[in-house]
Formats: sequence, structure tokens, C-alpha cells
Amino acid sequence: MKNTLLLLACLIGLITSLRGQSTSPRRPLPIIDVHVHAMKVNPSFAVEMCPWFLRDMPGGDPNQQMRAFLNTECAEPLQPAKSDQEMQTAVLNTMERLNMTIVAFGDPVILRKWKKAAPGRVIAGIGVSSPKEMTVQAFTDSLSSGFYQVMGEVAPQYQGLSPSDMSLDGYFAAAEKLNIPVGIHMGTGGNGMANLTQATYRASLGRPFLLEDMLARHPKLKLWVMHAGYPMIDEMIALMGANAYVYVDLAGFIWSYPQAEIHAYLKRLVQAGFGKRILYGTDLLVWPKLIETSLSVIENADYLSFDQKRDILFNNAVRFFRLDASKFK
Ligand SMILES: [Zn+2]
Repeated sequence: MKNTLLLLACLIGLITSLRGQSTSPRRPLPIIDVHVHAMKVNPSFAVEMCPWFLRDMPGGDPNQQMRAFLNTECAEPLQPAKSDQEMQTAVLNTMERLNMTIVAFGDPVILRKWKKAAPGRVIAGIGVSSPKEMTVQAFTDSLSSGFYQVMGEVAPQYQGLSPSDMSLDGYFAAAEKLNIPVGIHMGTGGNGMANLTQATYRASLGRPFLLEDMLARHPKLKLWVMHAGYPMIDEMIALMGANAYVYVDLAGFIWSYPQAEIHAYLKRLVQAGFGKRILYGTDLLVWPKLIETSLSVIENADYLSFDQKRDILFNNAVRFFRLDASKFK
């Protein structure tokens, strides 16, 4: 009888532990994507897209029709979401499946919907790229509301402004005072940005060194350079060497430029000693599968160790945004 009871107890224990395993399968290791655009799906922009489409930039002639900006000649172009709801469902499902948290900014209505649907997985950001957009007071009030934890995406380059332009200084002062990390777009914007898309854009205003004066005025500001200042690697490395709180993200260029070029750039950043200052970012727009496409670039980087990949995908963002790692397990 005693033996039978013991056997029964063991069996119950075994069944309970098996049950426990089946109801809570191991979650994938957490990922933080620091660069997501929460945007309304615009049907005229919602076209198919082939990643790494900037591998061929043949130029053109002003008197001829320019070739389409996005290349769609590949076996499986990424499909755009057709509606805001389809986009939200796809993003939320992907975050859940990949155990992913996002830093998102853009359309305030979309952003609030996403945050409401997945409060633990969305960190909201608010950007200002020109003093015409809102007053410093209005911006400070928004930051103080508690909804926004990040300032970004700030993109003065598209407005023909340097990030150190004094007209933006009050906004950065507010972020510094409130301990809010800032993400600034520095780098390229695609093919023909200045003469085909946005006349005020200047390639030279993406130079990482243009951040130096602003950083000197705000020595406590935590800043991440979006798009890692691509392709100006030397200035990027020098700036990070001189400024201990400057990080970079890999967003955008990792799915648009040729893969050999992306890997050379990322490898150089790590080789120069900045493996702990690189943040993973997608620059997600309207193609939900772009998340997996961009993650595959990091997964396939055979020159990175497992730990280096974990730093880029998670640990560095936890440190940069002052998050609690235990909340992501
Ligand atoms: Zn950008």
C-alpha cells in the first residue's frame, strides 16, 4: 500500500510537471526593436517591396521618367498591409510570437491604439524635426504627460537643418532635463532623396559630427544615432569615442542597401569596439514581414558571437533606455 501510494504520488507529480511544460512553452529570448513607425496605411504608398532594393542605383535623366523608387523585381516581394487594422494585428501577433518590444513613434492615434492593445510591448516616442511643428512648451508638456518615454524620430536633415541648429535646442534641453533618451535620423534617405523626393533634404546634414555642438551643450543627453550615420563610419566611430552616451541603431539601411555593404558597416562598428552601443531597429513602415527580414540580417551575421547578437537585439537597449531586464523574461 505504501509503495502504491508512493507510485501514485510520483505519477501525479510527473503529470503535473508535464502539464506545466505544455501550458507554458519556453518563450523566445526577448528582442527590442528601437525603430518602428506607427503610421496610417496610405493606399498610394502601400506597394510591394523587395528588400535590399538599393543594390542598383543606375541614375537617370531629368527629361525622362524616373524608374520607380522601390524595386519589386524579386521572387517574393513583401506585401503591404491593406488597412490600419491589418497592420496592427500583424504587428501585435509578430511581437507576441517573437517576444518583442518596440519603441514606436509617428501617428498619435495609431500609436495610442497599439499601446492600448499591447501596453507592455510598446514604448511610445514623440519626435520634433522643426520648430514649425510645435512649441517647446507644447513638446515639454507632451513629454511630461507620462505617455511618451522617448524623443524620436527627430529628422532635421529632411528639413535642411543641422541637429545642432539653435532652433531645435530648446527641445533637446527639455529631453535632457526630463531624462528622456533621444533618437535622431542621421544618414541617407534612399535614392534621389534631394532632387526627386524632398528638395530640402541634404546628404551633408547627416554627418555625425554635426551632433557635436548640440551634445556639448547637453552633456547628460542620452542620444542614439538612427541608421548609424550610414555611410559615414569614420565620423560615427569618432563621435561615439568622444561621447560616452551615444549609441546607434541599424534601422532602415539593413533592409535597403546591399547585404555585403550592411555587413561591412556593422562589422566595422563592432571591430572598432562599439558592440555594446549598437541597438537593433527595423524602421518598420507598412510591410509587417519586414521585421523578420531585418532580424535575419543579424541572425546571419556569422562574424558576431551569440553574446554579441544578444547585446544588439536586447541587452544594449535595456541599458540605453534604462529598462528592467527581469520584466522581459
Ligand atoms: Zn530615419
